[in-house]
Amino acid sequence: MIVPFNDLQRGYNLFQAEYESKALEILRSGWYILGQEVKCFENEFSEANEVKYCVGVDNGLNALTLSLLALGIETGDEVIVQSNTYIATVLAVTHNHAIPVFVEPDKYYNIDVNRIEEKITSKTKAILVTHLYGQASQMERIVELCDKYKLFLVEDCAQAHFAQYNNQNVGTFGQIGCFSFYPTKNLGGFGDGGAVLTNNEVLATKIATLRNYGSNKKYNNEIEGFNSRLDELQAGLLRIKLKHFNDLKRNRIKIAERYLQGIDNSIVYLPNVRKGSTSIWHLFVVRVENRKRFRKYLQDYGITTEIHYPIPPYLSDAYMYLQYQTGDYPLAEEYANTVVSLPIFDGMTLAEVDYVINIINQFRG
Ligand SMILES: *Cc1c(COP(=O)(O)O)cnc(C)c1O
Repeated sequence: MIVPFNDLQRGYNLFQAEYESKALEILRSGWYILGQEVKCFENEFSEANEVKYCVGVDNGLNALTLSLLALGIETGDEVIVQSNTYIATVLAVTHNHAIPVFVEPDKYYNIDVNRIEEKITSKTKAILVTHLYGQASQMERIVELCDKYKLFLVEDCAQAHFAQYNNQNVGTFGQIGCFSFYPTKNLGGFGDGGAVLTNNEVLATKIATLRNYGSNKKYNNEIEGFNSRLDELQAGLLRIKLKHFNDLKRNRIKIAERYLQGIDNSIVYLPNVRKGSTSIWHLFVVRVENRKRFRKYLQDYGITTEIHYPIPPYLSDAYMYLQYQTGDYPLAEEYANTVVSLPIFDGMTLAEVDYVINIINQFRG
């Protein structure tokens, strides 16, 4: 059997007729930027998350970058991020000329809340939390720390749409929640897209202004803005996926639970879900000491895997100037060297899941 790591076409096929009729409707409408579809999507996404404002933007990275800018993060400010996050989280900090301060992850691959306080200095302005792989972070302690030290709280929810901590959606705990709708994300579109959620009207207006050349009224440019808009086609197609999101979420959870129950091999370390947190299983990440052999073994049986991520952001070439070295964050590096993401995607069949389980259980290292 051939099991791809992901197959976006199958996700598309699930609601093909609806996507195609919406796409045609928008193409024939003659209105392609900042129109009704974006407005409707923003309303539907904020309502579904029980938040007052949503501003659609062009991608997840810019959702993060514009959020930090809107909060006034600037040169020399420190922003706390986890050492094993995807590099986009860190790019948002450095694009604002701020300094990323790294904190090691916990055993759920999210920021270790017990190691944050020791990194807070007089320059710390914000904690930027990534709900990595789809699981909500331990928000209670993070909110406490932000209150205690008067820090902004921004959430990178690119991998965790509608995941919850203590029955509250991610993206709703701090000033701003940032989302990506990149095609492989759980709420993924058919191109680039992103959004921010906030209950703060001033921040919502500021980000809406920043995304459109710094203009809120035509040709009235109050600030030096950008072109970071979500387009009508993406918004319209995302509205359809949003409508079906609960079903898609349920199916991912079903796949993940089948993996968790079925994989039984002492050399394959399974993911944990924290009590109080839920995961939308953006990725199903296991750890294996001999990763290279494990991946080759699975590939020989037709199963493709990926690595998220092989190089921690602080060791990437782009951040050579930060002068970090191998060994600085041992846990992030241990994870970077051992994590393997198994196939999980919309439209994956249970027969495929069972095949992967069966092959993994026969792996002897
Ligand atoms: C995908 C992703 C982003 C960036 O989103 P884009 O839409 O690709 O710009 C940011 N943070 C995390 C954790 C992501 O997975």
